[in-house]
Amino acid sequence: MTPDDSPRTWSAQELDVERPDAAEYRDLAADLRSRVDGRVAFDEYARVLYATDGSIYGAQPAGVVFPTDTGDVRAAVEAATDHGVPVLPRGTGSSLAGQTVGPGCVVLDVSRHMDDVLSVDPDAERARVQPGVVQDDLDDRLAEHGLKFAPDPASSNRATVGGGIGNNSTGAHSVRYGITDAYTEAVTAVLSDGSVIEAREVVLDSPEWDDLVSGDGREAEIYRTVRAVVEDNADEIEARYPDLKRCVSGYNLDRVVYENDAGERVLNLAKLFVGAEGTLGVVVEAELSLVTVPEETALALYCFEDLVDAMRMVPVALEYEPSAVELMDDEVFRLAAESDATPSTSIRFPTAPRPR
Ligand SMILES: Cc1cc2nc3c(=O)[nH]c(=O)nc-3n(C[C@H](O)[C@H](O)[C@H](O)COP(=O)(O)OP(=O)(O)OC[C@H]3O[C@@H](n4cnc5c(N)ncnc54)[C@H](O)[C@@H]3O)c2cc1C
Repeated sequence: MTPDDSPRTWSAQELDVERPDAAEYRDLAADLRSRVDGRVAFDEYARVLYATDGSIYGAQPAGVVFPTDTGDVRAAVEAATDHGVPVLPRGTGSSLAGQTVGPGCVVLDVSRHMDDVLSVDPDAERARVQPGVVQDDLDDRLAEHGLKFAPDPASSNRATVGGGIGNNSTGAHSVRYGITDAYTEAVTAVLSDGSVIEAREVVLDSPEWDDLVSGDGREAEIYRTVRAVVEDNADEIEARYPDLKRCVSGYNLDRVVYENDAGERVLNLAKLFVGAEGTLGVVVEAELSLVTVPEETALALYCFEDLVDAMRMVPVALEYEPSAVELMDDEVFRLAAESDATPSTSIRFPTAPRPR
């Protein structure tokens, strides 16, 4: 079949299909349309489309907004707040635990328009991005500088940086690089009242700190409260936060106050937005630190008769400081061998365990 013979697909607009807003959210949809430049979709089709994500959960939102910029996010949050409806930011919805589905909420899909790499500073090894940029697209932009964004979830060809911040994601190379919070230096976020906060490293008790906490506005209150929570509960936080490489449950109260490279005690609210699953605000920009792409890589393949044997060898493998340790079971090899996508020139996968 030539491209000209391909079956034509039709959009609902072309077919002139009427897609009315859900009756119970008509006023909210109209209000959003009057305040937001991006598309507002409150019809049944959009609601069903956004009722699922990568998880087993499902719940129909009130509708979806596709913000074009920070102004749109602010306007959407304000409108939803006025109507008493929750807001749920969403990247590509590849979450596995239902993070991006919620009943009767306004979903803000930032992956459609807010997906730019705003700047790259190769010398400082920093990049400033919008939340909807897909991680692999960011790495493509960074490749010319020999740099990359270190956390690499297996879904990185679809997953957004904003979603990675929401989930504190990481991937196969976490044994070397750790998780997203270590690479999120600052975020600009829209709070529940529509105000914007620039969360970044602030030296405690510096003139900048005194200035930040002196007002009676929302930002000052947040800085004062977070410091008090962390300092008043320091012993509990120390005792109860598990010392795990991939600790991604709950708010990062153990990582929000720390000593920076200059030896100063700092508070960085950006670390709190990481892993918050969108509950503290909508991230509209993020400043990321980057790592150098290694010039050489190598792969070692070890075969084991069963899973427990393989797992017993992980501590031994870690002694050699690998950048990744991955486990593949016989099912993966079988599927790869059978798949048309596996090139015929690819290496022969082991079909049977080797004698020990
Ligand atoms: C096949 C597969 C493999 C996977 N492998 C991994 C893996 O190796 N490691 C891993 O960590 N995860 C993995 N995941 C889970 C998921 O893909 C990652 O956590 C990914 O980083 C989520 O990105 P996303 O753009 O889909 O985010 P979403 O699922 O859209 O959102 C994730 C969270 O972030 C919040 N969020 C999104 N955007 C914003 C924003 N702008 N501001 C504030 N909060 C926001 C959302 O509300 C949600 O709570 C995998 C998923 C699949 C389907």
